[in-house]
Amino acid sequence: MSRLLVIGCGGVASVAIHKCCQNSKTFTELCIASRTKSKCDALKEKLEKITDTVITTAKVDADSKDELVALINEYKPDAVLNVALPYQDLTIMDACLECKVDYIDTANYEPEDTDDPEWRAIYEKRCAEKGFTAYFDYSWQWAYQEKFKAAGITALLGSGFDPGVTSVFSAYALKHYFDEIETIDILDCNGGDHGYPFATNFNPEINLREVSANGSYWENGHWVETKPMEIKREYNFEGVGMKDMYLLHHEEIESLAKNIPGVKRIRFFMTFGQSYLTHMKCLENVGMLSTSPINFEGKEIVPIQFLKALLPDPASLGPRTVGKTNIGCIFTGKKDGKEKKIYIYNVCDHQECYKEVGSQAISFTTGVPAMIGTALVISKKWDRDGVFTVEEFDPDPFMEMLNEYGLPWKVDEDPVLVD
Ligand code: NDP
Repeated sequence: MSRLLVIGCGGVASVAIHKCCQNSKTFTELCIASRTKSKCDALKEKLEKITDTVITTAKVDADSKDELVALINEYKPDAVLNVALPYQDLTIMDACLECKVDYIDTANYEPEDTDDPEWRAIYEKRCAEKGFTAYFDYSWQWAYQEKFKAAGITALLGSGFDPGVTSVFSAYALKHYFDEIETIDILDCNGGDHGYPFATNFNPEINLREVSANGSYWENGHWVETKPMEIKREYNFEGVGMKDMYLLHHEEIESLAKNIPGVKRIRFFMTFGQSYLTHMKCLENVGMLSTSPINFEGKEIVPIQFLKALLPDPASLGPRTVGKTNIGCIFTGKKDGKEKKIYIYNVCDHQECYKEVGSQAISFTTGVPAMIGTALVISKKWDRDGVFTVEEFDPDPFMEMLNEYGLPWKVDEDPVLVD
């Protein structure tokens, strides 16, 4: 018997909730909550016909700790799964702390308003100290370590695909394949085609912020920062074919650099087509990616939020997206004194995901591990007090559940390396 509160009912949330409903032995009851209760009700109506999980819904503004605390006290969940936006991470963590309830998310904190002077002062200090300029980093959530430990509760951070599955792949490689991992290249290939000239596969605001920012990688104990899209490589992905991919900053680099002992280099590459990049550059050049409010005909608007309203809703891409994703990690290192390299990866088909849960593969590949991480925390198979990323736990039960819940993985023991 367990009770889960899920914050959010967007693309990723609906897959995570769908998967919880397939695992109703673990998730006997769940409550779906966001600011728009009608969306949560629609999801409940769709799912309650096909599951034994008892579903309720609620309205909550997760920017308000008080509203969250009131809802948690009323519903009394065993854990809260945050699949809203990274902007809400800290208020939800604060509420979990106050109510002594476990916390799980898929993306690390970043502020909605990057012009906020209080945040900006801390951000600029961090840029100077650490050497990367992404708006998001783990410091805000790692700062809760002692508080969560003292409260006897778990925070599991980044239980999506990347971060999430890629981090579990790293723990699994270290446990079963290597004595020492020297390099990790995380490859995120989306070979899907939705037929629109321009659309993003998950929340446009978060997605465009991420890919228009400077790139960076970890090498020999420090960060090396690059201009956006400065480093380009080609790679031949099983199930997709040859694709251009670009080096990005990504959040799991920060936690893996801390948790994989002796790792010398960690890079993250994502594939993009030329049309996507040209559209993005053009939108950036005219100011449409800006997060700073402007005054338009007497009303304050944030350009990137206005752009979000114009772009196709990522949740609507499901029926029209064809093709596959191939996401995984190439590891090099040593085993029994010998050089070794492997690629651990998953190939996921957009249309298969749509048939199963009504979503495209990006929401699917994030929502499935969000459910798995939550299941492991709620069932106490992963049970540590404090704030942790997924690679800090035993990877084996997570890897087994990936196979069971629709993200089977493979190991290529002779992959082509990225130069
Ligand atoms: P969507 O924009 O589709 O959904 C966001 C949801 O959050 C909506 O249901 C929205 O509902 C809810 N929400 C937003 N603000 C609030 C608020 N103040 N209070 C309560 N609910 C709120 O986003 P996605 O589903 O595409 O992405 C969800 C998360 O997954 C993001 O954090 C994203 O970064 C992460 N992600 C992680 C990946 C990984 O591999 N680790 C990959 C892809 C995404 P409403 O408007 O009704 O409040």
